[in-house]
Order: sequence, then structure tokens, then C-alpha cells
Amino acid sequence: MRLPLEETLVVLGEGRKIIITAHVNPDGDAIGSCLALSRYLENQGKETVVLIDDEVPKGFMLLPGADKIAAPEEGRSYEADLLVVLDSSLDRIGKVAEAVKAQVLNIDHHHTNDGQAERLYLDGERAATAEIIYQLLEMAGAAFDKEMAMALYTGLATDTGFFRFSNTNPLTMRAAARMLEAGAEPHVISESLEQRPYSHVKGLADALQHIEVWHGGRAAGAFLSYEVMEGIESTEGLIDMLRVIEGVEIVVVMKYKEADKARVSLRSKGIDVSAVALKFGGGGHVKAAGCGIEKPFGEAKSLLQQAIDQALSPTDPAEAVKESGEEK
Ligand code: 5GP
Ligand code: MN
Repeated sequence: MRLPLEETLVVLGEGRKIIITAHVNPDGDAIGSCLALSRYLENQGKETVVLIDDEVPKGFMLLPGADKIAAPEEGRSYEADLLVVLDSSLDRIGKVAEAVKAQVLNIDHHHTNDGQAERLYLDGERAATAEIIYQLLEMAGAAFDKEMAMALYTGLATDTGFFRFSNTNPLTMRAAARMLEAGAEPHVISESLEQRPYSHVKGLADALQHIEVWHGGRAAGAFLSYEVMEGIESTEGLIDMLRVIEGVEIVVVMKYKEADKARVSLRSKGIDVSAVALKFGGGGHVKAAGCGIEKPFGEAKSLLQQAIDQALSPTDPAEAVKESGEEK
């Protein structure tokens, strides 16, 4: 059931013990939204736990409370009044889905959200889930403290490419300004997120050796097989290097994960890549999406390239992937 914002606040007010989660492979919006909401609810005298079924990347450890984010323990069952799922639909929260016994409230900004949650607040117009959390807390008359401000600013900044992408809107800027007033320090956040080991930067240089363009230069990708991935610590930042290639409309990074499993990130300048990701069971936004493909690497690569070709030159009008002005 889709809830209005007011109802969403009421539901949050009803729970006493609340577990908060977000998608696996958590990004700044997932982590920032969880931490800010947790902090607000704790200030309201509630007991909260942030459970995410994945590691929290080191760069986010500067956020107060990030060190307390835990993955669900194997075989343990968690009881709560409410499970709040942020920045994700219920199928992307890993083991949290089975481990937690509670009513579900889902808050998200992905238009591909599958709508499976009992109660869902979805606003695909918002640049980040953090923007929705800001609206909620603002409506509740919350006193924003530095902890909430750092967390929400991180979510707003990371999902908008630090206020550069076309999803950046007046509310993003208002929310960010409010967070600065409440003590957020943008340079501290961006410096922490930029830091990476020397070996990572060297690894990126290796990954760049494996980029290719196709479809008359309209598509670019880095296809990183098992052999290549062995020498690379992280591909963070690689997709942004591809985005700048002149003439390119869709870019992709595909990484070997395990046998018969590849992980895909897609970006575009307007063609709907969430439709490409949906073909493989993934999702996201018009200009930023992702999916996993459970096929041997070579096969996954050719299926993905075909799907991108189809998006770039739709032959069947019924299949045509629409052009749009929306984004992440
Ligand atoms: P990224 O490439 O940064 O991992 O993801 C880009 C966008 O697509 C993010 O908004 C992310 O939440 C979404 N996304 C990435 N992978 C998946 C996936 O497997 N399923 C769904 N539904 N969304 C995804
Ligand atoms: Mn997000």
C-alpha cells in the first residue's frame, strides 16, 4: 500500500523497537539515510538497530554510528515492532529479509521499486532517499544535530554526484543548506570518501586497459573478467572515468563476481538504463542503474551488449526504451 508522507511519519511514531536497513552494496544514500533516521528515532526515545547485510565501505566510517552498523548474524532471528527498509525494495536487502520478524515500512526513491512492501512511501522525483528523510524529519519538526546533518548531507551529495547530476533540484539544495546550518562539513565528507589506497589507484589504471567502445562509439564499457579482477582492489570511480568519453551515451562496468555471476553498473546521459537493468532483474534510475547477471562471463557480456544495443537503436517500437529527462 502506498502511504502519503504524513502517514509514514505516523507509522514511524508507532514502533518502539525499530530495525532499519538498506540495500546490499550500500552507498552513501543508503548508509546516510539509515544513520540519520536511527539518530532521530533514538532522540525520540526509541530503540533502533541498523542492520545491513554487507560491509560498510571504509570512507563512511567517519559518520557517527557507522561503526555500529551490523550484518545480521547467521541463524539469528531479530524481533522488532517495525523494519524500515530504505533506498531499496525488499528483494535487495539480503539476509535481513529472513532474519527480521517485523512489520515492514519501505521508503524509497527508485522508480523501479517493486511495490512488494506492506507499506511503501515512494517518491521517484527525489534525488536521494536522504531527501525524503529530510522531508520527513522537517515535517516532524526535528532538531537536526551534527550527526544527522553529516549523514543526510552524505546521502544527498553522493546520489547527486556532489550536486552535479540532473536529479539535483531546489529541495536537494535547500536540504543541503539546512544540513550545513546544522553542522555538516562538506570537505570532511568528500575528503573521507575520496581517500583510497595507492594500490587501488594503480588498480584503476589496470582496469582502464580493459575499456572498449562499440555501437559507433555510443557505448563504452569496462568488462573485467576473473583474471583482471584478481589484480584490482576496487572499481570505485571507474564508471565516472568512462562517462566523460566524447560521444558516449551509455556506459557500463561489468565485473566478474564469482563463477557464473557478474555485477553490472550502468550510466547514461538520457536513455533509460533502468530498463536495461530490469531485463536482468535489476533496477535503479533512468540515468544510473545496476543488476547482477547469473551467466558465464562471456555470455553475460554479450547479452548485456545486446541489451544496450537495443536501448541505443530500438528496432521494435513496442520494446523502445524511452528517452527521458529524469535521473538518479
Ligand atoms: P551502482 O551502479 O552505483 O551500484 O547503482 C546505480 C543505481 O542502480 C543505484 O541507485 C542502485 O541503487 C541501483 N541498482 C544497482 N544495482 C541494482 C540491482 O541489482 N537491483 C536494483 N533494483 N537496483 C540496483
Ligand atoms: Mn539512493
